[in-house]
Amino acid sequence: MDHPFDCLVIGAGMAGAVCARELAERGGKKVLVLERREHVGGNAYDCFDQAGVLIHRYGPHIFHTNDRRVFEYLSRFTPWLSYQHQVVANIPAENGRMELPVPFNLVSLRTAFGQEKAHSLAKRLIAAYGMEKKVTILELRQHPDPEIAALADYVYEHVFVHYTMKQWGQRPEEIDPATTARVPVFLSEDCRYFQDLYQGMPKEGYTPLFERMLDHPDITVELNTDAAARLTLADGQVLLDGAPFDGTVIYTGAADELFGCKYGRLPYRTLTFQFETHPVDYWQSHGTVNYTMDQDYTRITEFKFLTGQELPGVTTIMKEYSSAYTGGAGEIPYYAIINEANNALYAKYKAEADRFPRFHLLGRLAEYKYYNMDAIAARALALCDDLLK
Ligand code: FAD
Ligand code: UDP
Repeated sequence: MDHPFDCLVIGAGMAGAVCARELAERGGKKVLVLERREHVGGNAYDCFDQAGVLIHRYGPHIFHTNDRRVFEYLSRFTPWLSYQHQVVANIPAENGRMELPVPFNLVSLRTAFGQEKAHSLAKRLIAAYGMEKKVTILELRQHPDPEIAALADYVYEHVFVHYTMKQWGQRPEEIDPATTARVPVFLSEDCRYFQDLYQGMPKEGYTPLFERMLDHPDITVELNTDAAARLTLADGQVLLDGAPFDGTVIYTGAADELFGCKYGRLPYRTLTFQFETHPVDYWQSHGTVNYTMDQDYTRITEFKFLTGQELPGVTTIMKEYSSAYTGGAGEIPYYAIINEANNALYAKYKAEADRFPRFHLLGRLAEYKYYNMDAIAARALALCDDLLK
């Protein structure tokens, strides 16, 4: 059978959508995209709920990058709404509860300790590290000055240890240090969650961005289609619908699933999202509120802050609960659990995939990494640069 397509892309998330567009537009290729979900966009997908609120079904997604190429590339498919994400930790306090900016910064320091003590601590911190510097919690805990070490213990206890236990089932010092380093202590008055040059939200939402990216005469998208039913990998040959396929294949799903998990399942954390709609304009103080000391959920996101949607009298919030991924029906692997043993297991699947020529693993799942959207877009553009040279 002669296939009418030059390239096959599995998954219509950021990795798959950017590759499909590049291969079709820049490479003049005919591209087939298979997506098992009923929609494009992968985990960045958004939609309107019954109350008319624009929600993110798979967790809050805020776009931020320092990569100009990525920003300009995505800007072809969407105008942007200027949005600078802010997060607070909601913790028990003497007279009820208090909210500290996260990342923990000089404002958090004053809120937690009062002007006078905060002033002296800030002086010590700035003398040790410098103003506007970012210091990871694990580094800060190593500091020899007993006052800085005591502050580090406070931040560890009030911001990191319980949240990390909920999110990963492990303590901060047991997980990949790059994970807590995403949210360093910041010696600054800047209360934004990210400091990247380009930040914002796609003005009409992520789903229209993806739809536009995939809207090209040489791209065919088949939704509700699991690659497992169409693709076979055997004896160094890729078969599509039972017939040899010799074109480029870009696979953005989980690497273990490709090979029937024959070496064992790659460990992941999954999330359960609980959505609630309330008859008020706004329900909480910031776009995301982290519950860093108590509650079973890790954080609550209120979408109207993120999307800028003006909808009086109603709002939708989402609570996130994290647990171990078991591979059960309907469960989604969201976070790779990065450590030496799991990386070694991943390497076995990668070596299997590498035996197939023109077959590429790309994306947060397929590469078993903790990538943000911009990193994935950059990797997709770089792979296509390589494929099309
Ligand atoms: P995905 O979005 O997972 O897309 C993979 C697609 O492949 C999916 O649609 C899946 O259904 C499909 N697929 C898998 N297997 C098959 C198969 N066998 N057949 C057919 N289709 C298949 N990044 C940011 O930059 N900012 C944020 O604020 C942010 N927040 C996040 C919050 C949460 C809770 C999570 C989990 C992630 C967040 N991210 C954020 C990261 C972001 O989601 C990823 O970087 C991005 O979605 C990765 O794109 P991808 O294409 O690699 O993967
Ligand atoms: N983290 C924490 N407390 C917080 C925020 C983050 O302990 O208030 C830790 C936690 O281990 C988390 C990691 O830092 O998994 C990365 O946080 P980030 O907000 O980047 O996670 P994501 O949005 O990707 O889930």
